[in-house]
Amino acid sequence: MAKLLLINPLNKRSIVVKDELLSVYPPISLGVLAALTPPSWEIEILDEIFEPFEYREADLVAFTALTANVNRAYEIAAIYSNKNIPTVLGGIHASMMQEEALKYVDTIVTGEAESIWKTLIRDFEHGRLKKEYNGELLEMKHSPMPRIDLYNSGYGMGSIQTTRGCPMTCEFCSVHIFNGRKYRFRPLDDVFEEFIKIPQERVAFVDDNLTGYSRQSAERIKTMCRMIIDSGIRKQWFCSASMNVGEDPELLQLMSDAGCQMIFLGIESEVIDQLASMNKSVNYKIGVENFNKIYDNIHKAGMAVLGAFIFGLESDTIETIQHRTEYILHSDVDAMQVTVLTPLPGTVLYDRLKAENRLLYTNYPNDWERCTTTQLTYRPLHMTPTEFDEIATESWKKLYNSKTLTRRLIKTTRLTQNTEAAKWAYSANVQYHNIFLEGKAKRQQVSDWL
Ligand code: SF4
Repeated sequence: MAKLLLINPLNKRSIVVKDELLSVYPPISLGVLAALTPPSWEIEILDEIFEPFEYREADLVAFTALTANVNRAYEIAAIYSNKNIPTVLGGIHASMMQEEALKYVDTIVTGEAESIWKTLIRDFEHGRLKKEYNGELLEMKHSPMPRIDLYNSGYGMGSIQTTRGCPMTCEFCSVHIFNGRKYRFRPLDDVFEEFIKIPQERVAFVDDNLTGYSRQSAERIKTMCRMIIDSGIRKQWFCSASMNVGEDPELLQLMSDAGCQMIFLGIESEVIDQLASMNKSVNYKIGVENFNKIYDNIHKAGMAVLGAFIFGLESDTIETIQHRTEYILHSDVDAMQVTVLTPLPGTVLYDRLKAENRLLYTNYPNDWERCTTTQLTYRPLHMTPTEFDEIATESWKKLYNSKTLTRRLIKTTRLTQNTEAAKWAYSANVQYHNIFLEGKAKRQQVSDWL
């Protein structure tokens, strides 16, 4: 029986500072690849979130990797290449940096893998593996049920995806480039069947926007919520949505009744001109003066708001970062994710900053490890990198110190009247505390010995 080893590689800096991990959900893309592989194959997932790589026998090795983790994938691929075992890399980075990836692995998969994985396996079985397979964007009714039985049992939270694609074109984002601008739905019966099978009591909907932009997409999630409510299943979950979710009280109440505890909103900035310049059109149309109403509506339905903001936008100065920090501190956002604008390959932002010769670290692939959205990787226009580091560090200390987080916990409990939602928001804040305050010192130690 041939053996397929699927590897979820982890940035070396994150291995040392493991509690910094922004995402601790099972790797759905590997579960999908496993589901697409014929039953005649033995399949194993090696997940570096839980266990550093140790050599395992395999006939074929495949990785999925975001930019920050790709260097680790290349390192492990070299070990198998030395033994003449074919290696395959898929995911956003391989799709955006094809020439680079082909220097380190035998085969790349670009785009979504559903349309070509079976062909790739068949080609391997016949000894004719190609260098490149280009996946098409299929309708999600063709997506198989991921092999959740193969995920590491240590995950405290399950993960599920119900849509792909985004019609928006935010300059810093690769979703609309990788998954396309058409918002594609997975059949709700499939979603519900998988939701039931997830063994964990806590679930992350990993869609970039669960509720979408149209009445049709909102109605679809209302139906999904009714299915969950009617089934009597009581799992807690969270999701990402665009800010317009807060304009539909019926949708919010159904989400809450179905177990949603917290909604991630990509707020990005409290300055309308900045929202316009990054093409954040939903937020722009809602208007900054109406953001509080959105937070209020989510709270009234008993859920917490995880607000995502960015430091280092093009027009940012020391003063605008201070202003954003004060806005966040005084807003009713419950969990605060404040990351650094990061030009990732394949985005319009990356191409523009590269053309302007403003990328700070270009010793690739090693420097991809810096693309964790926690450090500056480009030269800002209105301050030096050192000034940026100083003001960002000062702001993170204000946002994530223990007293602020405790006050936030009490406030969220009062606003949502839901201690479970408050716990979700608090634990997200503690995770960001670890990343931005505790992790910073550790990261320095790591870069000293790297
Ligand atoms: S940031 Fe969100 S809204 Fe903007 S393109 Fe990416 S997924 Fe779409």
